[in-house]
Amino acid sequence: MSNSKNQEILFMNPVFKQNIWGGNRLATEWGYEIPSDTTGECWAVSAHQNGDCAIKDGTYAGKTLSQLWREEPELFGNVNSDRFPLLIKIIDAREDLSIQVHPDDVYAAKNENGSMGKTECWYILDAPENATLVIGHNAKDKNELIDMIQNGRWTDFLREVPIKKGDFIQIDPGTVHAIKGGIEILETQQNSDITYRVYDYGRLTDGKPRELHIDKSLDVITVPAKSVEDSIIHVREDVKNQLNSLISCQYYHVWKLNVDDNMQFAQEHPFLIMSVLEGDGTINGQKIQKGDHFILPNGFGQVQIQGKLQMIASTIAIE
Ligand code: ZN
Repeated sequence: MSNSKNQEILFMNPVFKQNIWGGNRLATEWGYEIPSDTTGECWAVSAHQNGDCAIKDGTYAGKTLSQLWREEPELFGNVNSDRFPLLIKIIDAREDLSIQVHPDDVYAAKNENGSMGKTECWYILDAPENATLVIGHNAKDKNELIDMIQNGRWTDFLREVPIKKGDFIQIDPGTVHAIKGGIEILETQQNSDITYRVYDYGRLTDGKPRELHIDKSLDVITVPAKSVEDSIIHVREDVKNQLNSLISCQYYHVWKLNVDDNMQFAQEHPFLIMSVLEGDGTINGQKIQKGDHFILPNGFGQVQIQGKLQMIASTIAIE
């Protein structure tokens, strides 16, 4: 089944998003050309209509990922899905992000024009000393949830937890969450852009507050919240030259790679998405460095990575 098409690594041209809370580290630390000093998001591997990545070079240069998904399904193992199922982002938060929550597939299909729901996970790329973020809440039942939100009891409501560089966090639909200023993450998520904003710290954009989505938030927030212990995974740094599994859920499987000189494995998934977080080296002889994002197609076969690199890989969960 292996042929030359399936041997070609698909490098992405990321799409950048400006946000009031964004910063400039995507330029200063990642070397990307960004549109402004308030660039919050790098959509690194995306086929979403709000940010569709183009292929950087080779046979498919200039084609978008959504186009490739439609026209060359065998590159992705002929997966039965009407759209590329995942979206990979780097997020640079200079300021706190709004407190938000996402719907699941059922709620999104019904209330958001057939969109997918959003399950996401974060690998913490960088965080200040003593950083915290918001994950979950302290309401014990639906009545308390309504009371806390409608009466603005935010300090009681929001559950802030300490995190550090290298932590990994799974965010199921219905989980209240927010990244705080100074934190940088790599996000692996379902291909969806549906977010309900619960609270925005009373901030103004062009003199006006951003829209909140209180009713939809109350519909979808899980009460009580999942425990902190079940949400945060402390990733082992000492596992080298292996696919170190971080999470496997209904939508994706994510691994951390700590490449020290030489790592080999077989690419046997429908496709494998890879992001270089640190370092440089080669993959099957081609140069790769921090900030590169690419897809190894179906049937790619043997993978050989050389150098000193920190990487995140992901694919869809099939079972
Ligand atoms: Zn989110």
